[in-house]
Amino acid sequence: MLVKDKNFNLFIPQAKIQQRISELSKQIARDYQDLNPLFITILNGAFIFAADLIRQIDIVSEITFVKFTSYESMQSTGKVDQILGFDDDVFQRHVVLIEDIVDTGLTISEIMQELKRFRPESLEVVTLLMKPSALKKEVQIKYVGFEIENKFVVGYGLDYDGYGRNLQDIYVVEEI
Ligand code: 5GP
Ligand code: MG
Ligand code: MG
Repeated sequence: MLVKDKNFNLFIPQAKIQQRISELSKQIARDYQDLNPLFITILNGAFIFAADLIRQIDIVSEITFVKFTSYESMQSTGKVDQILGFDDDVFQRHVVLIEDIVDTGLTISEIMQELKRFRPESLEVVTLLMKPSALKKEVQIKYVGFEIENKFVVGYGLDYDGYGRNLQDIYVVEEI
């Protein structure tokens, strides 16, 4: 698939994504049974993952959204700006952040630090993707869908300069 000046090569097919989400949702449902967790989805990238994941977590929970900006095209800037933020609903709640991908880890660790100011009872992260070799900051991520190599990916919520979020599979963005 050719997009702007790049090629999108199939990387994780939708069936494999859905299979993994089904496993993750069972694990989370078990861990949070009776805790009425608060799921906080990090926009924009995690919206599709979150929608599929939480519909399979069959326990009473709450879901909300936050939005930060940090990423310029294909380079992490490491600084986050809050656009749509947390509020004190977080106080004494069992919070699960839902993220699309952890790359350097800078974004998620800043978000976790910011969230901890609102004193949740517990805080964990579920991310669909993680690039362990790109990590610049040590972060505790309890639930990881797929560990991937250090390549730029798109689809299933993730974009390349705004494009491709709606794709059902995940692709690697490559030079032509
Ligand atoms: P980090 O701060 O961990 O380096 O970057 C986290 C954010 O950068 C992610 O939430 C995501 O929005 C973006 N990002 C990192 N790697 C990729 C990637 O391979 N593809 C896409 N589309 N976005 C990425
Ligand atoms: Mg993200
Ligand atoms: Mg992006």
